[in-house]
Amino acid sequence: MRKILAVMAALAAGPAVAQQAADAVQPEATTSGGFAAMSPQVAAALQAKEDGVPVQGKTWMVAAANPHAVQAGADVLAAGGTAADALVAVQTVLGLVEPQSSGLGGGAFLVWYDAASKQLTTLDGRETAPLAATPKRFLDAEGEPLKFYDAVVGGLSVGVPGTPALLATAQAKWGKGNWADLLQPAITLAQDGFDVSPRLAALIAEDAERLARFESTASYFLPQGQPLQAGARLTNVAYADTLRTLADDPRAFYTGAIAQDIVDTVNAAVPAGGLLSTLDFTLYAARERDAVCAPFQGHEVCGMGPPSSGALTVGQILGMLDNYDLGALDPADPQAWRLIGDASRLAFADRGRYMADSDFVPMPTAGLVDPTYLAERAKLLGGDDALPEVSPGTPEWDHAMLLSDDESIELPSTSHISIVDSYGNVASMTTTIENGFGSRLMVRGFLLNNELTDFSFRTHSDGVPIANRLEPGKRPRSSMAPTIVMKDGAPALAIGSPGGSRIIGYVAQAIIAHLAWGMDVQQAVAMPHAVNRFGTYDLEAGTTAADLEGPLGDMGFDVKTQDLNSGLHAIEISDGLKGGADPRREGIALGD
Ligand code: GLU
Repeated sequence: MRKILAVMAALAAGPAVAQQAADAVQPEATTSGGFAAMSPQVAAALQAKEDGVPVQGKTWMVAAANPHAVQAGADVLAAGGTAADALVAVQTVLGLVEPQSSGLGGGAFLVWYDAASKQLTTLDGRETAPLAATPKRFLDAEGEPLKFYDAVVGGLSVGVPGTPALLATAQAKWGKGNWADLLQPAITLAQDGFDVSPRLAALIAEDAERLARFESTASYFLPQGQPLQAGARLTNVAYADTLRTLADDPRAFYTGAIAQDIVDTVNAAVPAGGLLSTLDFTLYAARERDAVCAPFQGHEVCGMGPPSSGALTVGQILGMLDNYDLGALDPADPQAWRLIGDASRLAFADRGRYMADSDFVPMPTAGLVDPTYLAERAKLLGGDDALPEVSPGTPEWDHAMLLSDDESIELPSTSHISIVDSYGNVASMTTTIENGFGSRLMVRGFLLNNELTDFSFRTHSDGVPIANRLEPGKRPRSSMAPTIVMKDGAPALAIGSPGGSRIIGYVAQAIIAHLAWGMDVQQAVAMPHAVNRFGTYDLEAGTTAADLEGPLGDMGFDVKTQDLNSGLHAIEISDGLKGGADPRREGIALGD
């Protein structure tokens, strides 16, 4: 409760303290599960993670946040399925065993490398705002922003889910398998039951008060009023039924009784009703968009463009740093972290000013990752101390647009899936229902997102519009950064992470660790974190990153040591395949 109050107070106080608000609520708890009994392969993968070495493979690999989901994907890949086929199996199992993080009720971004055409593309499965929503949705009668959790919990925050459409689109385009068969692992597990993981149990216990507010959510997560315990056998027949409906017709999510149920649940939620209509569902489509790429260390780092800020911000950080020889600095050298921290602050200043859904707001997308612009911005990093302050730059525009700095805050949950199939296709997908347990509303066995709170609550600042303000049909800005790093036109690394707006720092750091400092994927994802977004340098407690506190403080950075709970899942693609799974979460990599 203290944490919630801190967030509420900070939000009431305004944007200057948005970072403190984000810090006050920590990401999901770190836990490790008793999965070793599943199979010798799973046991070996868990052991590799503990030993800090990558899992090796030659033909295919999958890395994700829960061993049941990874196993489902591995089975598809071993049987000759594509990465798009495996994605369907992995995501539908994750929605069951890690329901707090992602699922049918949420949204996702996929970066896809197509081996046959040697092309990179992306699919945007981000949630949309209802057509009936107005920009002032998250303002109270006095025009002040709502308290964060007043906006999150209930119907106000729910956007039209995009994950079901994304999965169906990806599988239809790039899959070989039978759609219905790919849902079967999740259907079987939902019907027969699975053991609640320590991580899920801990998160339920932590969130019990909010989960208790809605009957269907409470009866699932808090049977007889008590939080589910780790190891408890949990079935989800409603989820199995939903998947059976989708097995017959994937579009059924958007056209029939499922959509109607979501609309009814959201609009009836007390105290905060939503404004969704079945028309919002009928109109929903996942969109294919060009990947956004930026150069780093002789590679192209490619990812998801607007409405995500992921690839642009990661690309800006790395593009600025490419003007310095990071590889010549030791990973423990505070000067390396000065460069990384201030490059991140500069990139976040541009993110706050310019980045949003470019279908609604003109954006200087190409200008933001233009090497000449980034070289110019990088000159600001030439000193020895922390920059006293940072402000947005002036990237090249196709046409001018006056915007104000953003005031949105994100609190983390989310999941990342990396897959390479035996044909050479690569999938990198980050998937989310936003906050842990999303809006806390549950329909037909899955939780509904609270993605609309990724919009700026305020619409204007000093009379100037904020790019990421809410508009009907718009997709909220994201930080998700599913990434495929390319080398000479071929994929070299698939990576991504949860972590709210810290995703950007986690992904950028792991890419630096791998490409500039030569760490293998397991070392790169396990490396202690140091992340700077809005000024404060967050250092991972209980790790060697905390040793930077003194030196970075002396340079003038505000420093804060705390838990930093990433969930990086990465696959290195060279002669063979190497998979890395973040030791901070329950995931593994499996390959062959
Ligand atoms: N909703 C956030 C986003 O789209 C992700 C939240 C998280 O990673 O925890 O950026």
